[in-house]
Amino acid sequence: MSSSGLTPCLYLDELSNNLSRCEVRRMRFIDAGDVRLALHEQGDPARPTVLLVHGYPDTHRVWDEVAELLTPGFHVVRYDVRGAGRSSAPRETGAYRLDRLVGDLAAVLDAIGEQTVHLVGHDWGSIQGWEAVRRLPGRFASFTSMGGPGLHQWARFMKDAAPRDVAGQALRSWYMAAFQAPGLPELAWHAVVPRVLGRAMRLEGVRPREGHPATTLVRDGTNGVNLYRANMFASRDEVPEPYVDVPLQLIEAANDPFVSPRLLASLRRWVPRMWHRKIAAGHWAQRTHPEVVARMIGEFVRHIEDGTPPSRELARAGGTRGVYDRRLVVVTGAGSGIGRATARAFAAHGAEVVCADLDLDAARRTAEEIGRRDGVAHARRVDVSRADEMELFAQAVRDEHGTPDIVVNNAGIAVTGSFLDHELSDWRRTIDVNLWGVVHGCRLFARQMVERGEGGHIVNIASLAAFMPSRLLPAYSTSKAAVKMLSDCLRAELAGKGIGVTVVCPGFVSTAIASNATYRGGHRALSEWVLLRRGYPPERVAAHILRAVHHDTAVVPVNAEGKIGYALSRLSPGLLRGFARLTDANMGRLPAKR
Ligand code: NAP
Repeated sequence: MSSSGLTPCLYLDELSNNLSRCEVRRMRFIDAGDVRLALHEQGDPARPTVLLVHGYPDTHRVWDEVAELLTPGFHVVRYDVRGAGRSSAPRETGAYRLDRLVGDLAAVLDAIGEQTVHLVGHDWGSIQGWEAVRRLPGRFASFTSMGGPGLHQWARFMKDAAPRDVAGQALRSWYMAAFQAPGLPELAWHAVVPRVLGRAMRLEGVRPREGHPATTLVRDGTNGVNLYRANMFASRDEVPEPYVDVPLQLIEAANDPFVSPRLLASLRRWVPRMWHRKIAAGHWAQRTHPEVVARMIGEFVRHIEDGTPPSRELARAGGTRGVYDRRLVVVTGAGSGIGRATARAFAAHGAEVVCADLDLDAARRTAEEIGRRDGVAHARRVDVSRADEMELFAQAVRDEHGTPDIVVNNAGIAVTGSFLDHELSDWRRTIDVNLWGVVHGCRLFARQMVERGEGGHIVNIASLAAFMPSRLLPAYSTSKAAVKMLSDCLRAELAGKGIGVTVVCPGFVSTAIASNATYRGGHRALSEWVLLRRGYPPERVAAHILRAVHHDTAVVPVNAEGKIGYALSRLSPGLLRGFARLTDANMGRLPAKR
């Protein structure tokens, strides 16, 4: 891509310190038919050009942070769209039709002297981007769309989608109808809208700073009402099959109140080469998560520009082979029972699995078995109860494989016997493995997920014992009740970051846990017999786990006793307490061997 050869108009306060990296910002006005547009460039014009187009009611300054982060590697171009910031604002509504906006975009491309650029649009910047990639073939090497589908694709969704999905999107777009009322939106902009908007931004975590919201906000807001009037319900040229030919990265902000996930998911139908990524943010993700947005743009542009191998996240975003395709899943206690079955199930659905266990050979056996079935798995030894080992483990996972998408904190042990028979060491070991193991797993991996900013899921394995008191499992039940509560607390905390938390509570499952347990009072034979006779395979628990992650379920009681116990704990906890008293702590005690 060529240099523009323009005469830069330097603003002293916009001069970057690092002149060697060509970070000088250049600003000038260009003519685009009936308007004059304020055009801003920064970075080395010899590098690939990224054109950032802002939405409503913003100006080019909404991209400040992202532009700064992209500048070392790219030639970054922004402009104030017609009606916003320092660009001129035509009075008549028709001047805001999409064809005029696309005309402005073409004028910008001509002014910077670039044949093709990588387009990034947010909100109305994205809406006009969808139109531009259709109307200006050959001018865009790629398109990154944030928070705004194309109007043709939107119209097709509203026509073809299920009534519930249409109603969901219509509710999110209520303001579009309000903007059609003559005079009312203009009045509202001068009265309450700036305050309401400010509050909405603060709720999302957008801190006002110089340049955003712009000092021209009220003027931009009232001018921009014409975007809705000229385009939303006006007649458009018929485009029966609105396919998009350009490689498209769709960044879905998980908490965007204006665009429904269903609408965004429907876009894949029109885009043969689409990478669909999620960011745990609200509508103004470029303000709250500029590093994540800049990383996503940079990765995508480099991949398209020169074939730079995609990150795991980008590769996955381009895949269509199912929900767990190329996900990175960490499972603790994967050497046996529920952990092994869960690792195998995720791998069978295309995930790459890190199988961790206290027993490295057992973890290796699980990983090798997955490998024999054409899956991808790695084995690691870790004692989940040790903070130092878990720190190293989490670090190694990130360094060698990346941030996990799903973590299953499954490793656990059992001690059976009455409270008075339990030794202090039994309590320590049970709490260390069953509770601290989960705390370490959540703490370390949740932090990684938050830093990455693309969401994730944590599954903690508790038990029926979490809500069903028993005279035989006091330490175990206490640890599992704590895991359940921890999971509920964490779910509330991480929801806003796009990270789901599920707690799984199985009843009796036929695994080796009874053989591995410590017995204070000699119930081994009975416990092993009960679990074996129950005949509930760990593979069925694994199937519940995969479903729960997909649907982001909060609590998953598994099998008949798990479900009945969970229901009774909510309906009649007293009944469960009475039942616990009936169980005999000496039950199953075997006669002492002679
Ligand atoms: P399992 O067959 O005994 O498997 C547990 C795995 O965790 C074993 O491979 C074990 O390794 C590993 N492990 C133990 N301590 C560890 C530590 N400190 N660090 C790393 N790994 C460790 O038992 P399971 O039935 O599959 O149990 C899995 C989870 O489900 C547990 O949390 C359990 O409490 C829960 N659960 C089980 C049942 C059931 O009826 N089976 C019911 C409800 C809940 P080693 O073999 O080397 O010790």
